[in-house]
Amino acid sequence: MSRLHGIAGSSGIAIGTIARLPDATAQISQPTDDARDDLQRLLAAQTEVAAQLQRLAAELRAEDKPNEAGIFEAQVLLANDPSLVSEVERLLAQEQIPLPEAVRKASDTMGATLSRIDDPYLRERAADVQAIGQQIIAVLQGVTLDLRVPEGAIVIARDLTPAQTARLRRLRIAGFATAGGTATGHVAILARALDIPAVVGLGDTLLDLPDGATAILDAAEGLLIVEPDAEELEHYSALRTSRQEDAARRQGLLSLPAATRDGQPIELWANIGHPDEVQRALAVGAQGIGLFRTEFLFLERSAPPDEAEQYAAYAAVLREMSGQPVVIRTLDIGGDKPIPYLQTAQEANPFLGWRGIRFAMRFRELFQVQLLALLRAATEGDLRIMLPMVATPADVAWVRAEIDVAIAGLAQASIPHRADVPLGIMIETPAAALTLDLLATGIRFCSIGSNDLAQYTLAADRSVAELVQRYRHDDPAVFRMIQLAVSEARRLGLEISICGELASEPRAAVALVGLGLEKLSMTPAALLAVKESLRAVSSEEARQQARQALGRADLPQRL
Ligand code: PEP
Ligand code: MG
Repeated sequence: MSRLHGIAGSSGIAIGTIARLPDATAQISQPTDDARDDLQRLLAAQTEVAAQLQRLAAELRAEDKPNEAGIFEAQVLLANDPSLVSEVERLLAQEQIPLPEAVRKASDTMGATLSRIDDPYLRERAADVQAIGQQIIAVLQGVTLDLRVPEGAIVIARDLTPAQTARLRRLRIAGFATAGGTATGHVAILARALDIPAVVGLGDTLLDLPDGATAILDAAEGLLIVEPDAEELEHYSALRTSRQEDAARRQGLLSLPAATRDGQPIELWANIGHPDEVQRALAVGAQGIGLFRTEFLFLERSAPPDEAEQYAAYAAVLREMSGQPVVIRTLDIGGDKPIPYLQTAQEANPFLGWRGIRFAMRFRELFQVQLLALLRAATEGDLRIMLPMVATPADVAWVRAEIDVAIAGLAQASIPHRADVPLGIMIETPAAALTLDLLATGIRFCSIGSNDLAQYTLAADRSVAELVQRYRHDDPAVFRMIQLAVSEARRLGLEISICGELASEPRAAVALVGLGLEKLSMTPAALLAVKESLRAVSSEEARQQARQALGRADLPQRL
């Protein structure tokens, strides 16, 4: 028996036999001596992959799965990416390697650049770029990535393309496990949407497992057990039944109010990174979008999206939310999240450098375009604009002046827009938590970004794996910072919520409510579990949990 630990790709337990998929990148063919021929082959393979993706998107649309279809439609753009062609051309000329090898190297390099970015949504695009590369190689090699696996199998692979993931569903597999991949990658997103138990990021030892071996996949725990004993098999089949019961029970919460046991209402909102994700938010009963990360619009391309494209994305989300609030965060990039087409300086401490709103100050024209798109889209629903990484009153004052400029331009050109869009800030820096009163001028709401607030409070870089023990968003220091912000917001009469990952953990969510937060925004997948935990406690019990979280369980009078 062996146990492999990876990353939870979805939830659910699968029990089955292992079936391995071929790896398209494993066989790389010999060089050809005609560079033009290579280029033509590459373009033909790109076209073929784009067509495959388009067919898949059409099938999914026909099955009434617009979100999943959207993933493949976005990938068509990646498949046709001209920067891949130029990178492959460069490699062919400089290194004289075979075409498939050049495609692999080019997609790895492009993927590696993205994977260094400290944003889960942007990082996951790395896997997409590599998956597309793999599909192009498969076409070039004539390898069919079409899958033949027995029903009920646990499929293992180095990585899956999103297209393969979607096809797996039809084969009625029990689950899948991949050596690569991240929790927020498209493969994991699809596994969740299609309800397939999946573990990703298991490492290359996964690929040594024998075909046909019995295995258990505990997706939520990120665990793969190979050749389990009878006792373990019995334990996991019982657990599978009880998890299925949990999920079914939580579905029953959909129509019930989000409130503590004694009736204190709590609003549960959803975080999204792409307009496609609104459906998932609505499906779990989200009452609003508390964080729309707009970074996705700016990546995997050679120029920023224009105003029309941004307007279309924001308006689509607002329309789908039918009047419910949508908090759209302005571009949060810079420092460790470079955009290739925008020159940013190399920095010794990127997290303390040109990030978030500071980046907007440096790229003012880009920010103006985003503001124009937002102010126009605001006519479509309840849009609120939120600023990332605010630390000083000057940050807010600068944005207010920029908004006034944008409004004046729209008014002068008689372009429909809303001038009274509420402006809010994220509380991600200790400075914001400590001086909320000084920042509040012109601000209508604030939202705690506990992911960044934790790293700045604890002085522990959230992107350094070795610091994971020090970077704890549930540390008492973080809770005390949140407490400070909540009480200050209350005193100022300022609406406050939280949209960091802390809110998606059922225990922490209870403590946050105990601290006085009445609005929590989280990944849609966590919403019903959080609702369940809140409904199980009284307000007093929540306050008790908060005292513990603050490390002040012995000082009940403080809350
Ligand atoms: C946060 O910092 O908590 C947050 C929500 O922003 P991001 O994770 O996108 O940095
Ligand atoms: Mg943040």
